[in-house]
Amino acid sequence: MKSVIEWLLGGIAGDDDDILQRALASIRKSEIARNILAGDRSKNIRIFIDHQTDTPYCNDKAIGLLPWMSIEHLVGDLAHEVAHIDQDSRLDFSPSNLSRDDFLIYRRIIEADADATALAICDQIAQSGDSAPLDALRVSRQRKDIAAAFYQSLDISDQSENRRRLPLQNSFFAWFDNPWYSSIYDAESLGILAHVAQKRPEEMRKWGTEKLTADAVRRIATLPGSAESYLPENDPRLAALLEPPSPASPISRNRPVPGC
Ligand SMILES: [Zn+2]
Repeated sequence: MKSVIEWLLGGIAGDDDDILQRALASIRKSEIARNILAGDRSKNIRIFIDHQTDTPYCNDKAIGLLPWMSIEHLVGDLAHEVAHIDQDSRLDFSPSNLSRDDFLIYRRIIEADADATALAICDQIAQSGDSAPLDALRVSRQRKDIAAAFYQSLDISDQSENRRRLPLQNSFFAWFDNPWYSSIYDAESLGILAHVAQKRPEEMRKWGTEKLTADAVRRIATLPGSAESYLPENDPRLAALLEPPSPASPISRNRPVPGC
């Protein structure tokens, strides 16, 4: 049964089902999102508004989104979480076989790619006539730096396939220019490792047997449906990402956690 405040907010924002259907209809205007949602990995994933979470998330069973969001912010979060669905399918190794340092870097890379891909999805929605989700990312407290890097290099008069290549590169690398993102996700990654070590130590037997390579990073940074990575080969910025991470810097709580 709904509380009075939920009933009132529901009346203002619309019911969960209604707003979720509108967000899904919006995201399906993007070919990138349609490619992911048509894939096998999406079949068993339930997308819903989760009233028990304080950050949006994606795992192999569900995408949980925040309640009481405006539709344009919900679409941006949904685009990010949808981008996570098939990232692992482009790998030829299991992330659980990476060393501690490489696991931290791997998780930074999947977040940077999810943010870049979300911007590309929202740009496709903008090309279909609705710029609200892309505009919302540009003013988002969590993602405005990355969105600025994308938008500043976007030539909106270019309707070719190349339109998003440079913006994707720039937004991906901009993620690493802001130590706030790394500090948030490194802390979360270390928490995951500590949890697995305690609860499922058998999964750690192969830790460190695989190495994260520049090729693997470029495979992750490939749009679904595309044959080629949006990251250039031999870019010195790519090699710099694979340097061992420095000890986690103190986490600023000035901004809310951007989600997983
Ligand atoms: Zn994420």
